[in-house]
Amino acid sequence: MKHKYLKNVATLKLEAEKCIGCGMCVTVCPHSVFSIDMRKAEIVDRNSCMECGACVKNCPASAIEVQAGVGCATAVINGILRGTEPDCDCSGNSGSCY
Ligand code: SF4
Ligand code: SF4
Repeated sequence: MKHKYLKNVATLKLEAEKCIGCGMCVTVCPHSVFSIDMRKAEIVDRNSCMECGACVKNCPASAIEVQAGVGCATAVINGILRGTEPDCDCSGNSGSCY
């Protein structure tokens, strides 16, 4: 089963005009967030993004941005890995958690 993460919180951004259509993002993304259409990457499943940062690190055109390692999705994943409750910087006073 393919896991879905929190809806509409992924910090993923794609600047299509910078994309050279190399397909690296499609290759490295563990959740099939991207596809290539007409030699340009497009985001086809944003809600599956776990903000791992692999696409950003491997894009030769710097066309992708994501805030890897921050945010609630990471907190949830860390909580699962550690067997603890989700814990991130935006809990407490900020009230920005979904
Ligand atoms: S950050 Fe990770 S999960 Fe999200 S689109 Fe990039 S490679 Fe895929
Ligand atoms: S890795 Fe970057 S340049 Fe290559 S297809 Fe994806 S967004 Fe475009």
